[in-house]
Parts: sequence; C-alpha cells; structure tokens
Amino acid sequence: MREFDITIVGLGPAGGTLSNLLAMHGFSILILDREKSFYPLPRAVHFDDEIMRVFQTIGITKEFLRHTIINKGTKFVNSKDKVILDWPRPKKITDNGWYPSYRFHQPDLEKQLRKKLKNHKRVFIEQNSEVKKIINTKNYVDISYLNIINHKKYNVRSKYLVGCDGANSITRKQMKTKMDNLGFTQKWAVVDLILKKKKNNLPDRTIQYSNPKQPATYCRNVGRRRRWEFAIKKNQSDKKVLSENYIWNFLKPWLNKSEAIIERKTIYQFKSAIARKWYKGRVFIVGDAAHLMPPFMGQGMCAGIRDASNLAWKIATCLRFKHNDTFLKTYQTERSQNVKEYIETTMRMGEFVNAVESIQITDNIRSDNKGIKSMQSIKPKMGKGLGFIKDKNRGKIFPQFKLNKSKSLDENFSKKGILILSSEIRNKISKNYPFINTKKFKKLSTYLKNINSKAILVRPDRFILGSANSNHEINSLLKKYSTILR
Ligand SMILES: Cc1cc2nc3c(=O)[nH]c(=O)nc-3n(C[C@H](O)[C@H](O)[C@H](O)COP(=O)(O)OP(=O)(O)OC[C@H]3O[C@@H](n4cnc5c(N)ncnc54)[C@H](O)[C@@H]3O)c2cc1C
Repeated sequence: MREFDITIVGLGPAGGTLSNLLAMHGFSILILDREKSFYPLPRAVHFDDEIMRVFQTIGITKEFLRHTIINKGTKFVNSKDKVILDWPRPKKITDNGWYPSYRFHQPDLEKQLRKKLKNHKRVFIEQNSEVKKIINTKNYVDISYLNIINHKKYNVRSKYLVGCDGANSITRKQMKTKMDNLGFTQKWAVVDLILKKKKNNLPDRTIQYSNPKQPATYCRNVGRRRRWEFAIKKNQSDKKVLSENYIWNFLKPWLNKSEAIIERKTIYQFKSAIARKWYKGRVFIVGDAAHLMPPFMGQGMCAGIRDASNLAWKIATCLRFKHNDTFLKTYQTERSQNVKEYIETTMRMGEFVNAVESIQITDNIRSDNKGIKSMQSIKPKMGKGLGFIKDKNRGKIFPQFKLNKSKSLDENFSKKGILILSSEIRNKISKNYPFINTKKFKKLSTYLKNINSKAILVRPDRFILGSANSNHEINSLLKKYSTILR
C-alpha cells in the first residue's frame, strides 16, 4: 500500500493553501480531488490583508498580485439610494504589510496555488479521485478512493488526513460530526457579468442595496468583471428568476443587454453553520467542510485560509517530533471562536441588507457630522489554545516588519517560529533558537515596548504565542513550546 505523510481531500482554496504550507517542509503529500480540474467559474471575489500575508508565505504574491485590485470598501444604501452606512477600506498598508482588502477572481487564485505545488517533488495530485472511506486508527489513517474515469479503487495510508472537501464534506461525514445551523438560510441569485466595454458610471465600491422590495448586492470585481446578487422571494420560481428576461430586467438601472455578457447565473442557498468537531484523532476538517457563512462580508474562503494557516504548522510539528493530541486540539479551540464571530457579524450584515435598518452590525459604528454612519472591519480574537491565557499579548497578530528596504522579517521564519528579544534581556537558553535581537531595529524595539514586553515568541503563522519580561518567563515559555523553534 502506498504511504504518505499527509493526505488532503479537496484542492479548492483551503486545500491548495494547506498543501503549499505543508509542502514547504518537504513532507510527502497526496492530494485527491474528485473533479478533473479546479472550479472554473467565479465564487469568492474578496480577501483581506491577513490572507495576502499567508499567500506571501507560500510565495505566490508576486504573480497573483497582478490579478487583484485594491478594494475601496462597501456602501449600504436604502430604497431611495441614500447612503445609510459606509464601510470604507482605506488605501493604507496594515500591520500585516498589505492593503486591508482586495478583489480577485477565485479561479486565478486556484491556478496560482496549483502552479506553486508543482515545485514540490513530494506532492502528488490525483484529479478525478473521489474519496469514499476514511478509517482513522491510533497511528495512521487508511483511505479508499475511486478513480471516476477508470473506475478503479485505490487504498492508501497516511499519518494525517485533512478534509478540505467543501460544504458536503465526506471527511466530516466519516468523522460522524454534525453541522450546527446558526440560523441564516436564504436563497439568493448570483449573476456574474463581463462588461464588453469600460463603463465608468458603475460604482467603484461594493454596494449593498438595503431595499425591502429587493435586497441586492453589487460587486466591482477585477478587470471588466461585475457581479450582482439578489434575494429570491418565497413565491418566486428559480427557473423564472434565472431567465434572461428576468435578469436583464433586474439589471436595467445599471446595464442593458448590449453592454455585457452573462458569464454565469446561479442560485445559492446562503447558510450559516459550524461543525461540532473539527478533528478526530489524525483526521481534520478545514474551510467550508468545517463552517459556512453567507458571502456579505467576503470572509468564507478567508476563514478556510486562516484554518489552513493555523493547522499546517501544528501538523508539521507533530510530524517532525511526535503526535500530540493536546497540541492538535488547539486547532479547533483557537479557530472556531474567530470564525463564529465572522459568521455572526455576516449574519447581522445579511439582516441589514434585508433592510432591517435597526440591526447593529458591529459595536464599532460611528456617525459623522452629516449623520452618515460608518463601520470598521472586525478583528475577531483567536480562541483559547496554545500559550498562557493570562498573557495579554497571546494570540495577537505579530506585525510584518521591514528589516531593510527589500527584506521583511517574515522571510526569517514560517517553517519554525521565532524569538524576538529586546537588548535588555540576556537569556542563555534562548540563544540556542532562531531569534532576532531588537538592538539594530528601532521599530521592533518600540513595538516590544508598546506591548510591555522584553521578549516574545512568535508562531510560524505570525501570531504571538507568548510574551515575557524576565529570564524566568522566557524559560517557562521555552520549556513548554521549544519544539516550535526547533
Ligand atoms: C456567491 C459566493 C460568493 C463568495 N464570495 C466570497 C468572498 O468574496 N470571499 C470569501 O472569502 N469567500 C467567498 N465565498 C466562499 C468561498 O467561495 C468558499 O468559502 C470557498 O470556495 C471554500 O473553499 P474550500 O477549499 O473550503 O472548499 P471548495 O472550494 O468547495 O473545495 C472543495 C474541493 O473538494 C473536492 N471534493 C469534495 N468532495 C470530495 C471527495 N469525496 N473526494 C475528493 N474530492 C472531493 C471538490 O471537488 C472541491 O475541489 C463565496 C461563495 C459564494 C458561493
């Protein structure tokens, strides 16, 4: 039987990100996907700075950046076209080292992720391969899959298996865990168009039309791509709503038939749900397999990429040292709290778009002197997990620092973590591990001062695992977590 370090089921954005992050360590990876290639039509159109930083770690930003545009933000308007809420995304580099928000075409990203995987000799991609059975034992996972072209069955063994197999995940079903419905279920039509010519009178921002008669969304996507989404009423038939007549009639205020080509029209059941268990022994679920949310904030895929970034280095640590259940369990505890906050905020945003103006989307809403309300992006915290819970810096994202004009500190770590030590601290043990002394880097030293620390231990996924102010505190951190530096 063929054996691998890791088997990944599903090569969508979550599987593509996870495989790349694990492949950087040189592990043998089998990727199984039941389709013949990536999904060619548009789905996700937005991602944020934190996600771009993960793409930077993988090494795809240089090429992928050409296929993105900077997103200017979202406006919510009422049925009289009056702006009732503004969600600006200022064109300013964030702590993550990127702009707050980007627009893209999902197939462009999936192509880049696949292209990068070709550089890794120990990564084996098998398309047309549908996973049928997963048997989880103490030391390995046995997988049966079917090649849907030649109808042959195959059995393989691997040390870990991660299901990145989307909303109807076979992995989740085999784990026998349930999805908890969090309450939002609505049918929406999604229409993707390509403009035949430039059309300057279409908005540059995303517009959420909070119109009780017809809640709708407009998205300014990359190049000449534009998207409209609208809610479908209970008495409307799917067939009628998807007819050319209905769609062009709906689009009348913005476009006529001669100005654009419909690339795709479809109906989605927007849902909000979260799996009860995200792991069982050596089997994990990531991305849509673990959680679903409506697309109003553009965070569904982003959440899957955050999962991948959290889990990849934990599996890598277990493969390099030894399997550790307690360590791996923190994947769910750290990620689920964060994703729940995105789901809940997205649901409130959905209610708002459904024209329930009294809904408070976030606590972070301010009014300007003209009475226009504006909201800030949310930054949900990481849940309990690794590190000491009393440590106020634990779980904060570590900013991306430039060491000089061309080099960023991020380039110094990703497979392992890193220690940042202020020059006031002389710790003998820490010198055995990768570290940066802040002496020559003023910004880094100011950062440590601002968070009231003399040393921090940063995880490979760029979050702070712990902070310390004395040799004793550094030693306790290292005693418990030195594997992430080795
Ligand atoms: C209209 C719309 C708009 C959206 N907009 C945004 C947005 O702007 N921003 C954002 O972040 N998210 C957005 N999303 C969500 C985003 O598209 C999804 O969250 C994302 O595609 C999920 O990625 P994934 O890798 O988890 O799963 P998928 O992309 O669904 O990939 C799953 C893969 O698993 C494979 N598979 C399934 N079962 C098996 C099996 N048994 N054996 C082998 N392979 C299998 C499938 O072939 C597939 O390739 C949007 C979604 C929709 C529908």
